[in-house]
Amino acid sequence: MNHFDYRGGVLHAEDVAIPEIAAALGTPFYLYSTATLLRHFRVFRDALPAGSLVAYAVKANNNLAVIETLAREGAGADVVSEGELRRALAGGVPPERIVFSGVGKTERELAFALDTGIFQINVESEPELEALSALAASKGVTADIAIRVNPDVDARTHAKISTGKGENKFGVPIDRMPDLATRCARLPGIRLNGIAVHIGSQITELGPMEAAYLKVIEMTDALRAAGHTITRADFGGGLGVPYVMNEAPPPSPAEYGAMVSRISAGKNLKLAFEPGRLIVANAGILVTRVVYVKHGASRDFLILDAGMNDLIRPAMYDAHHDLIPVVASDRAERAYDIVGPVCETGDTFARGRTVPAFEAGELAAILTAGAYGAAQASEYNARPLVAEAMVNGSDWAIVRPRPSYEEMLGRDRLPDWLG
Ligand SMILES: *Cc1c(COP(=O)(O)O)cnc(C)c1O
Repeated sequence: MNHFDYRGGVLHAEDVAIPEIAAALGTPFYLYSTATLLRHFRVFRDALPAGSLVAYAVKANNNLAVIETLAREGAGADVVSEGELRRALAGGVPPERIVFSGVGKTERELAFALDTGIFQINVESEPELEALSALAASKGVTADIAIRVNPDVDARTHAKISTGKGENKFGVPIDRMPDLATRCARLPGIRLNGIAVHIGSQITELGPMEAAYLKVIEMTDALRAAGHTITRADFGGGLGVPYVMNEAPPPSPAEYGAMVSRISAGKNLKLAFEPGRLIVANAGILVTRVVYVKHGASRDFLILDAGMNDLIRPAMYDAHHDLIPVVASDRAERAYDIVGPVCETGDTFARGRTVPAFEAGELAAILTAGAYGAAQASEYNARPLVAEAMVNGSDWAIVRPRPSYEEMLGRDRLPDWLG
């Protein structure tokens, strides 16, 4: 469900015609829909047990306008670096709704989190626990933590975004939890509130999540029986979204919420969730222009002005993104390899994709691009960082301008010996 629709044959974002934005801003650019963001957040929150913390995973899309839109609706934030923590705070997320995850938090980052007084630090290793304890004790504060466990569950998603198997770098093996809880009770500056788990991203079945959550709940029962005060559980993010039109969608937030309610009922736990993709993926598109249509030896190429530096998901995760014309066309369909201008064969959005025939200069929209799109964009090939815009009803605004070439060049410095 999103708010990108054809009206009079022209693709609109809410009430704004996309060619209007393209004319003003130039291409390529990401375009986010406020109504879609809010809808996804509300549907997810409303499916969960009352009182749950929904901490939006900022790494999916860290644009300040996205964070602020969600924060005003009551979202918390799941952050994985000091930079994301600063963004969440700047976007108006109250510290008491912020969770800090990640395997490699530095002392500086932990100190900043302690000074900010956030809801929870998800500790992912024994050395991190020791470091945090020493730091908190030296500051005379108590760190509210959860321990992220590795439940050794296969999320059955792409290998690069699977995080809950024993071989993955994330979390501590769940069977170490009883010893760790005892250790926490003895360490200064640490309050262990619960267990966190996150087994991967773009998960399209509930089974692996339920298996992981049941392990967390079982371990919570065991820790309580051993005398520990466990008040929270953090069930992570990872629920998938539909990327392919007309394909069976992943489980809905309602189905997910029902599963969570069933297994957590009567446990008296404050639950936290860290959805990223589910909130932003369908709320964003990448608008691009066809530079050339090229007839190759064995196939036709649709060469776009957006490349793998703007949207790396097809190259990195073999991801599928639908592509549609911005101005609806009744031309016959053709099969193209849809590629960008970057000097790598990996800069390919789709192979042999059948779409209505395009001509050079026409606009296209790459769909479901709001998550892990702009957030992973780069200036590879010295291409300006992709611009971002947002619509809200009939209003639209640039929410991250494209840098000028002067700004890009101005970031570099020549060392003295070359000056
Ligand atoms: C990436 C990540 C998320 C968000 O995952 P989505 O698939 O985008 O929902 C949540 N929690 C942690 C710890 C993460 O690393």
